[in-house]
Amino acid sequence: MSPANHQTIRIEADAVVVGTGPGGATVGRELARAGKRVVFIEGGRHPNRIGSHLSILKHIDRGGLVYSEEGLNVVRALATGGSTLVFTATACRPPAWLKDKYGIDITYEVNEAEEELKVTALPDELLGPANRRLMSAANELGYDWEPFRKFIDPDKCAPGCSDCILGCKRGAKWTAANYVADAVSRGAILLNRVAVREVITENGKAVGIRGHNALKTPVEVRAQRVIIAAGGMGTPVILQRSGIPEAGQGFFCDPLRMVYGVPRDKGVGSASAPQMSVGTYEHHEKDGFILSPIVEPWLLFGASIGLRNPRSLTKWVNYRSVLGIMVKIRDDMGGRINLDGSFSKPLTYDDRLKLDHGTRIAEKILEQAGCEVDDIFCTIDRGAHPGGTARVGHVVDKNLQTRVENLYLCDTSVIPEPWGLPPVLTCIGLGKRLAKHLFGQ
Ligand SMILES: Cc1cc2nc3c(=O)[nH]c(=O)nc-3n(C[C@H](O)[C@H](O)[C@H](O)COP(=O)(O)OP(=O)(O)OC[C@H]3O[C@@H](n4cnc5c(N)ncnc54)[C@H](O)[C@@H]3O)c2cc1C
Repeated sequence: MSPANHQTIRIEADAVVVGTGPGGATVGRELARAGKRVVFIEGGRHPNRIGSHLSILKHIDRGGLVYSEEGLNVVRALATGGSTLVFTATACRPPAWLKDKYGIDITYEVNEAEEELKVTALPDELLGPANRRLMSAANELGYDWEPFRKFIDPDKCAPGCSDCILGCKRGAKWTAANYVADAVSRGAILLNRVAVREVITENGKAVGIRGHNALKTPVEVRAQRVIIAAGGMGTPVILQRSGIPEAGQGFFCDPLRMVYGVPRDKGVGSASAPQMSVGTYEHHEKDGFILSPIVEPWLLFGASIGLRNPRSLTKWVNYRSVLGIMVKIRDDMGGRINLDGSFSKPLTYDDRLKLDHGTRIAEKILEQAGCEVDDIFCTIDRGAHPGGTARVGHVVDKNLQTRVENLYLCDTSVIPEPWGLPPVLTCIGLGKRLAKHLFGQ
């Protein structure tokens, strides 16, 4: 790093990667492994202490209080590792249409990532009694539930722990920060708390990025390759400021709702095992939703049931016994991200039908698992996977290049269609593929 004058911090690199979520971390790490000089720019802090409500809240965008113009809450983490800091570590392979319809074949890269990160379903003792109970109840009703594959090392995970969303203190959960650390050990530079404002272009070609650090000192990185990976909500803002106004027009956010019940026996609840350790993708294709057990950390639980219906707050005392099923839908593309980061995201009639359809099935399963119908309650609806804001075929080509030469994207923003699935494994696959493309490996 060589400050060329006392005003601006200037760095030169082979590649600059903006954002360290799974997309950015992977492409940067692969380039560092290939001997390239990589600079990561991350707007958030480096998470040194994790695993509690207090420690994690400071890494969540505005403490979780981010709402669309219509009042839809959307959650994302701003930190090294992006939202994988708080993700529930579910690994889901991309749908076949990504290859069949868009010619994006990441089969090899996804296989490689699964092997490298030892993606696997958790053993029975780590699934948790409540999740096993819900899985049995669902299967008794004829649904097809199974253990989900996870980015969790079973040898480091502890029975009874459900801290994935608060950040895993044990290091059992893989996060994109692990890839960043690997890249840094190979010489990459990580700059935290630097907000990128725009891409620098010369003669129609991207040559770097411009932003400022927490002390408002300007930062400029010039590089042979410029990769924006600031996530579904961050990337379109940078693109709009860089002369690509079509970014951010329409997006998905995989809205979700938790359906909760208290079983008659007040046994062990879903908060005593990793979230989403089991579940089903069987409704995804036809009905547009997935189902999987989650009970949110207790503070969030209180907030999200209370905001839906203050009378549900009486259920808070039974927190340890609550069984919970998340309904996550594949919503229609819609809304927009504005230049200042504010956004609009109306839920359509079809979106609401899907949420309600999934809720009815979740209620049946909870009843089968021993909950009284009267004791079933829901949270507010919220979004957790914003994407599709700079989609393939609209803002980028299938090599993830924008119409500005040398400006590439690598995050959920490039996903071309409504998704409704956990996207991290896909982002990793895209990152590996892009790295090969960039320097012709
Ligand atoms: C509670 C929760 C649970 C989830 N569980 C799962 C799961 O089990 N499985 C799964 O596959 N997915 C899950 N997800 C979704 C998944 O974590 C995200 O979709 C994924 O992390 C998105 O990756 P990304 O590469 O697009 O960028 P992000 O992870 O969003 O990272 C983007 C990074 O860019 C930085 N940034 C943004 N703007 C700027 C700027 N201007 N300058 C510099 N830096 C900037 C941000 O600080 C952020 O760190 C979950 C999400 C949440 C919130």
